[in-house]
Amino acid sequence: MSDKSLERRGSGELANYENTSYEPDKKGLIGRLLAPVGGFGVTLRNVFSPYVTEQYPFEKHPTAPRFHGRHQLNRYADGLEKCIGCELCAWACPADAIYVEAGANTPDAQYSPGERYGRVYQINYLRCIGCGFCIEACPTRALTMTNFYEITGPTREEHIFEKDTLLAPFEEGMLAAPHPMVEGTSDTDYYRGDVLGATQSQVDWVRERRPNDPTLDTVEIRSEA
Ligand code: SF4
Ligand code: SF4
Repeated sequence: MSDKSLERRGSGELANYENTSYEPDKKGLIGRLLAPVGGFGVTLRNVFSPYVTEQYPFEKHPTAPRFHGRHQLNRYADGLEKCIGCELCAWACPADAIYVEAGANTPDAQYSPGERYGRVYQINYLRCIGCGFCIEACPTRALTMTNFYEITGPTREEHIFEKDTLLAPFEEGMLAAPHPMVEGTSDTDYYRGDVLGATQSQVDWVRERRPNDPTLDTVEIRSEA
C-alpha cells in the first residue's frame, strides 16, 4: 500500500482509497437498447418547446432594478456637483479602472461644496467589472450606477468615459454650476441633504456672470439660507 492511498480523517483514522474507482451502473438489456434514444432526449424535448431567443437589439428588456450598469456622477438640488475629488472610489476599485484628479474650488468657480471638486474623472470600461465597490466607497453618494449597459465601440478611447459623459445632466429646476454654495451653509449641510434647491442670491450671481445661461429660465428657487 502506497502512502498516497492513505488519507488521515478527522478522528485520526486512515482511509484507504487504493481500490476506489468509478464505474457506471451496469444497464440491463432494455436500458442498453434505449440508451441511444435517451441521448437525444434533451434535444427532442427542446425542439418542441417555445423559443426563448431574445431579439436584442430590436427588442430590449428592462434590467433588474439594481443592475450595475454605467456610472453616473450626481448633483445636489441646487446644481453643484457631489464629487469632491477625494479619489476613494479609485482606491477601492480592484480593476484600477477609475482615474480622478481633484481641482480647487474658488469663489469665482465653485463646482461642488467645500474645497475641492473632481476636475478630471475617467472610468475605463475595458477594465470595469461592475463590482460596485467604487459606489460603496464614495462618501458623498456622488457616484452611483445606472441601468445602462450598452457600452460598446470599436476603439479603446470610446470605452474610457470622461466627466462630460458621466456627470448627470441638470434636472428641471437646477441652476448650472459653477456658482457659490447656498449662503450660510457649509459642506456638511450639503452632505446631510439640507440643501433643497437654488436660492435667489445664487441665481443673481449666475445672472450677473452668465446672463445667457439656459438654466436661468428654468431654475426653481426653493430655499433661502
Ligand atoms: S464597478 Fe468595480 S471595477 Fe468598475 S469602476 Fe467601480 S470598483 Fe472599479
Ligand atoms: S466619486 Fe465619490 S469617491 Fe470618487 S472622487 Fe468623487 S466624491 Fe470621491
